[in-house]
Formats: sequence, structure tokens, C-alpha cells
Amino acid sequence: MAWDHILGQDAARQTFLAALDRGRLGQAYLLVGPEGVGKRLFARELARAFLCERSPAKMTACGACPACAQVEAGTHPDLLFLRTPEGKHELPVAAMREFCAQLALKPTRGPRKIGIVEDADDFNEESANSFLKSLEEPPPGSLLLLIGTGTDRQLPTILSRCQLVRLAPLSDADLSAILVEHGIDDPAKSARVARLASGSASRALALADDSFWQVRQKLVEGLTAPRPSFRPLAETWAKFHEDAGKDSAAQRTRASIVLKFLIEAVEQALKLSLGAAVGGLDVAEQARLKAFADRVGTTGLLELLDRCVEADYHVERRVQLILVVESVIEKFTRHSK
Ligand SMILES: [Zn+2]
Repeated sequence: MAWDHILGQDAARQTFLAALDRGRLGQAYLLVGPEGVGKRLFARELARAFLCERSPAKMTACGACPACAQVEAGTHPDLLFLRTPEGKHELPVAAMREFCAQLALKPTRGPRKIGIVEDADDFNEESANSFLKSLEEPPPGSLLLLIGTGTDRQLPTILSRCQLVRLAPLSDADLSAILVEHGIDDPAKSARVARLASGSASRALALADDSFWQVRQKLVEGLTAPRPSFRPLAETWAKFHEDAGKDSAAQRTRASIVLKFLIEAVEQALKLSLGAAVGGLDVAEQARLKAFADRVGTTGLLELLDRCVEADYHVERRVQLILVVESVIEKFTRHSK
């Protein structure tokens, strides 16, 4: 991994380079951006560049020295990570204290220690408070990188003590390049996937998985058919979340993907009802969506669209997924009679 593998984040990188040029690299940064744009990769590459012992250029890792190898292997003694434990929703205060204590120790290999807080969205009052001293007076030479999805998710006490760097959603071209890198080089498929992925590489890679398209077919077809049956559809959808394992972020990604599929289908139905052309649909799909549009009507379609967009927002805000699923399916079954 090196900077040329981190797509779409040149502006963020320039922020750090410019700070170095002015001799004003800060000690605490909050990197924010949507899920799946490469925030963790970016932070790790930054850490590797700063810990590299034979750096060939400013903020560039050589990729060959022992420090680079240790960062790569996740064993560098001066690089610390703090994550929310699996199945939990908050950063535990005990882990936070341990992280701060480690950060305060002298670096082992080089001149600095770097601490990466991977889930800055998950601070609670207690863990935030136990972090404030380290944030205000970081140990000399240390660098703290906090990673979050948005500023509105951060406690003011944390936000006010960090310099903010925004990471951008990836362009469709960058997403296609990432898909090609993972062996998906059908241009029609990657164009469609990129369009549904909203700038997120993790979402694009998930969407490229054929099992996702099977679930899409079941749910989109089921919900746009006459008289959708609530229970089996809710079960299919919920099972799709459960198949992601216990990781709640992965479950939310899946919920959001289903909603993107539904939003796409409703938008296509709207277009068809207005007599506009819709590309990429086979004849049977077109007929089904047109009949769906006729049953539901324009007002109904717009309401469904609203509900799906609102549901996607709720997924991001960590509303219980089953509630989101049931409210969306209920809306579809009520409209499609
Ligand atoms: Zn190196």
C-alpha cells in the first residue's frame, strides 16, 4: 500500500503536506468522511510515512525498512490502535485509559508515537473525558489520528481539540478502478455498481458480489409485485443483515445497500410512469415496474421514495435495523394493494 493506491484523497494528503511545509504539523487530527472512502487506509499510510526510517521523500514510506514492515504487519510498537470492540457500540473507558497510558510511554523505535482512534463516532462522555488530557497535551512528538464519519457525530469536547480533515466520497472512475483491481472488469456492471455505491469503495465491492444481486432480486421483485407479503420479505431482508455476522457496521452497510436498491427501483418506476426511458432494464423488469407505478401512483411513489431515504438516514444514525426494515416494508405493502 502506498499513496498511489489511495484513490480520491489527494486534497486531504495535501493538507498534511502543506502543514509539514509550514513546519506546523498538528498533534491531533480528526479525519471524517463517509463509510468506505478509505479513511483507515489513509490514516495507516500517514502513520507508515511518519514512522518510516528511510523515507525517500516528504511524507512517503520507503516500504522496505523494518519500521515499514512492522506497520504493514500491524506489529509496530509505536503505532497504537483503538477500536470499538465487536458487538459494542461505544469505546470503553478502560480501553481508552490503556490507550492513553501506552501513548504516554517513550517511543520504542523512533522519534514518535502515533495513536489511531478508528471509531471516533463511538466516544461516550466517559471515554471522551478520559481522552481529553491526551488530546490537549499530547506527549511530545506524538500524533493522534481520529477517524469518524461526520462532524455531527462527534462530541464538542473532542471536535474542538482536533484539526479537521475531510475525506471525500470517491468518484465513479475511482470506484471502477478499485473494482478492476479486485477482478471486476465488466464495464456495464462496474458502471451500475459505481452509481449505486455513493462514493464508497466498501459498498461498491459488496455490490459487486453476486449474492447481493440475488437478494436484490428477491426484495425488489417482492416489494414491487402486487400485494407484497410482509413476513417473508422482512425475513429475507433481516437474514441478509445477519449473514454479515455480528459486526454492526457490516450489517448497516447491507441495510443501506438494500435501501439503495429500493430507491433505484422506485426512481425507475417514477420515470416509467412519466413515459421516460430507463436504461439497463430487461423487458420483464420494465413491465413489472410500470405495473407497480400504475398501482401506486405518483404520490405513492414519492412517499415510498421519502420513506426509503429517511430509512437510509436512520440506518446511518443506528436506529435498530429491524425497525427500519419493518417500517419500509409496511409502507410498500400499504401502497401496493
Ligand atoms: Zn520505510
